[in-house]
Amino acid sequence: MEGKFCVYHEGVPAVAKCRKCHKLVCRDCVIYDDHDGTAFCSEECYEKYHHFKSRYNEEPKTSKRTIIGQILLLVGAVVLVVVAIKLGAARNVPFFVKLNKKLSGGGPPPQGQLEEPAPAPSRR
Ligand SMILES: [Zn+2]
Ligand SMILES: [Zn+2]
Repeated sequence: MEGKFCVYHEGVPAVAKCRKCHKLVCRDCVIYDDHDGTAFCSEECYEKYHHFKSRYNEEPKTSKRTIIGQILLLVGAVVLVVVAIKLGAARNVPFFVKLNKKLSGGGPPPQGQLEEPAPAPSRR
């Protein structure tokens, strides 16, 4: 380790390299991370490194929030579709009437609704 001296103290041998800026620092200057023992040259680098790390760790939280937003959007879209189907059924659009029947779980059909005759089974 000759020639490897602390960047802050001339002639004082370095014991560690800063994880953030890769400066060599002596025993007096080095700051160790309490959790994993990572070495840093200064509080500043320690803060920067952990700020970076915590920002990195926050990403899942952010995407969780995005997922909730997406779920809300999806729910909104479903509500819109249901409303569209109800409106279509109210106007007796056959496609929507069928969908509406499915939505209401096969309950009694609304009054005034035309039952479509089942197609006759054809045998060949
Ligand atoms: Zn540093
Ligand atoms: Zn030093």
